[in-house]
Amino acid sequence: MAHSAFISGQWVSGGGADIVSINPADGETVWTGSGATPDSVRQAFAAARTAFEDWALTSYDERRAVVQAYGDIVKAEADHIAQLISRETGKPLWETKGEAGAMAAKVGVSIQAHDERAGRKVTETEFGEAVLDHKPLGVMFVLGPYNFPGHLPNGHIIPALLAGNTIVFKPSELTPAVGEFMVQCWEKAGLPAGVLNLVQGARETGAAALDDPDLDGVLFTGSWNTGAFIHKKFAGRTGIQLALEMGGNNPLVVWDAADAEAAARIAVLSSYITAGQRCSCARRLILPQGQAGDQVVDHLVEMIKKLSVNVWNADPEPFMGPLVSAQAASHVLKAQDDLIALGAKPIVKSERMALGDAFVSPGLLDVDGVTTPDEEVFGPLLQVRRADSFEAALAEANNTAYGLSAGLVSDSETLWKRFWAGSRAGIVNRNRPTPGAASSMPFGGPGQSGNLRPSAYYAADYVAYPVATQAASTVEKMPVKGL
Ligand code: NAD
Repeated sequence: MAHSAFISGQWVSGGGADIVSINPADGETVWTGSGATPDSVRQAFAAARTAFEDWALTSYDERRAVVQAYGDIVKAEADHIAQLISRETGKPLWETKGEAGAMAAKVGVSIQAHDERAGRKVTETEFGEAVLDHKPLGVMFVLGPYNFPGHLPNGHIIPALLAGNTIVFKPSELTPAVGEFMVQCWEKAGLPAGVLNLVQGARETGAAALDDPDLDGVLFTGSWNTGAFIHKKFAGRTGIQLALEMGGNNPLVVWDAADAEAAARIAVLSSYITAGQRCSCARRLILPQGQAGDQVVDHLVEMIKKLSVNVWNADPEPFMGPLVSAQAASHVLKAQDDLIALGAKPIVKSERMALGDAFVSPGLLDVDGVTTPDEEVFGPLLQVRRADSFEAALAEANNTAYGLSAGLVSDSETLWKRFWAGSRAGIVNRNRPTPGAASSMPFGGPGQSGNLRPSAYYAADYVAYPVATQAASTVEKMPVKGL
């Protein structure tokens, strides 16, 4: 029996609703267990609260040493982690090897970010010294999504622990095995009991955690719907930290690009990577009217038909695997049907594949002239529309309440400057796929994509609060006018 929780250094089994994690490619059962009960959630927060004082007072060097030990373990276990992520999500092994590598690399990046953004600065003054330093916030609740079940929670957990916070972590109910293994790596690294606690489960577990009196912050990566729910729930509670990393309805504009085939490749890598299950995937392709746009569509259609889709460990390696579940696949196909009912014309229709119920082939819809909902369709479905000027294309790119990523494919330096200045997104790329992002940079964007607390390199900012101090070492009589 797998564990439903890890509380104060002890693994706990049984209790809440059953959870079964299924490999979406072949139906293999990867993990069975149960969610944490509300009582276990309560105990997990109480454990995190009890551990907080000591962990916050542990020297930074000691905390950093535990984090580095975790990084070494993750590095040594990279193959196992990659396989586990592939089995739980269906993502091809070449992708999950990248994810496991990013998890280990996050340690060095987070230490650098902490030292640079949340370290200590002392300025000598005439009275003594002015000191800027940072303190941890307390007990953080980390909520992970399923699409990067290792890398994304890891990107909250490492900076939060470095800063001296303690944690209750709830992985996605679709990826409990990856969550459990991550916590086992921390246990092996020698993290003191209670500093990181795990609760498995779905919404009910999440809901119990959000109501916990010991919670000081929510570090969330997931959908707009859930993020907005959390944001509303804590409205008016200014003492609770919220770092909300949410979705996108991201645009890719192709304008004045001589090589239509190269542009189509960037569109493929923007839209269909990870079977479209990345928050930064392009959902909308905006092209010029006429031949310049037609050529991109023609190349795209040719490429889509050749894209290999298969199970995670197929040889040769596929470009993409299934969606995370048959239900997620049905959701994408339903979204496609809804768009067609609104007037979208399928150029290449997304279809359920013979490989299995979670497999959906890449689709391309012509939505020119159609009013479409501003929604994130989390799968391999790209909507194309045309614009009759670059200004109109830029306006269309910004025609979304989201603001995660935006891309321009263009040979023109002038257009790039206009695009960069005019686009409203946190990741703005040129001649690179929209998901292109580096761990040495912040990751996040305005609007419905987050609450302006970007993650990745800037996670150091939201896991600590700055404390400004003026200190004189002796008690001196200060000048007071009139005295
Ligand atoms: P989700 O919002 O459904 O779930 C995320 C987490 O929240 C899960 O652990 C889930 O169990 C929990 N949860 C869901 N409803 C809850 C509730 N009512 N109360 C408490 N907890 C609740 O997201 P998902 O489907 O797992 O992930 C895909 C989404 O994540 C996409 O929208 C994607 O764009 C987004 N995402 C964003 C980023 C980013 O960095 N901005 C990165 C990856 C994924």
